[in-house]
Amino acid sequence: MVKKSISDVDCRGKVVLMRVDFNVPQDDSGAITDDRRIRMAIPSIESVLSRGGKLVLISHLGRPKGKGPEPEFTLHPTAVKLAELLEQPVQFATDTVGPEAESKIKALKDGQVVVLENLRFNAGEKDGDPAFASKLAGWADIYCNDAFGTCHREDASMVAVPQAMGSKPKVVGFLVAKEIEYLSDTIANPKRPFVAILGGAKVSDKINVIKNLLSICDSVLIGGAMAYTFSLAQGGKTGKSLVEPDKVALAKELIAVGGSKLILPVDTHCGDDFRGECNKQIVRAGEIPDGWEGLDIGPETAAQYAEIVGRAKTLVWNGPMGVFEMPPFDAGTKAVAKAIADSDATSIIGGGDSAAAIEQLGFADAVTHISTGGGASLAMLEGEKFKAVDLLDNA
Ligand code: AMP
Repeated sequence: MVKKSISDVDCRGKVVLMRVDFNVPQDDSGAITDDRRIRMAIPSIESVLSRGGKLVLISHLGRPKGKGPEPEFTLHPTAVKLAELLEQPVQFATDTVGPEAESKIKALKDGQVVVLENLRFNAGEKDGDPAFASKLAGWADIYCNDAFGTCHREDASMVAVPQAMGSKPKVVGFLVAKEIEYLSDTIANPKRPFVAILGGAKVSDKINVIKNLLSICDSVLIGGAMAYTFSLAQGGKTGKSLVEPDKVALAKELIAVGGSKLILPVDTHCGDDFRGECNKQIVRAGEIPDGWEGLDIGPETAAQYAEIVGRAKTLVWNGPMGVFEMPPFDAGTKAVAKAIADSDATSIIGGGDSAAAIEQLGFADAVTHISTGGGASLAMLEGEKFKAVDLLDNA
């Protein structure tokens, strides 16, 4: 699925409408607490500006009701931050398809940029309204999608706008191109052994990821609280661990489908309370005593998983092996993260908690790709096809 890239189109003097993901976290005063999403879009933004394009940035922020402006969801702080990062002025329009956006876009000179107000202030964004989409598309010569975090959605700016561009170029930005390269292309043609490590709180969140990866991987290693639902399915004792009794039938099905590919923990680090300072013991998997809860994979499992990871040529990791926020129950996650970092395999880290864990542990530079998308990254690992990407021009 190689898509035409923003670097493949001539931007000089052209209006480039770029969908970015500026949905940044903010504190109560509106100050941006993590500007990573803005920084991730800078390569595509600079590519357009340095080649004399007139850049129009569109994004959503938070979940406004779609009934007009709500001050707490304004994108204005992101325009201020972008100006700081680019070290050049960035204009801001207080509407999206209104007169201010129109006049600011028309006044853009080559190499200048404007951020439009939150797309979701208009009901048309979530509804995929064609009239809203044609207005945005009508201003642009080129459409670029660099909003990976939203690629699994079919909001107007992701689908109806590029559709309304007709035969004009519709391309991917560098961030989306990189995510597709790893989360889709590498996984479709992996070097083997191809090993997935899946953890986290609930089986229910990752059923389709487990199913899809079982069909394409050589081994799928399970950790985190989701392992205890599998343990229940095998008739094990799970004490007061986090389990999903209503997913036991499904876990049985996955065990049957997975066969020897599905690898479950052999031991468990448990505690008598959900605290780092609780009483602790290591027990065999499926033998968690009453009043105790599993909080991490045990040391034997960690060593076994590290060995399997060490032999892999392609690795995908999504979800921590235990309550990594609460030492010493971070040991299993650390052991797996270190094995991934030490490996020469192509290593792909899903977004969310595993990305946070790998960064927190200082291994970010030792892995091949850390996804920026939470839901989008999971959806791609589920093998889902994204309409927002499919409709873009092929290279
Ligand atoms: P997820 O968002 O599904 O990837 O889940 C991540 C969360 O799962 C983290 O906050 C972990 O603390 C939590 N988690 C992992 N293992 C366990 C466990 N054994 N018991 C309770 N929570 C866990």
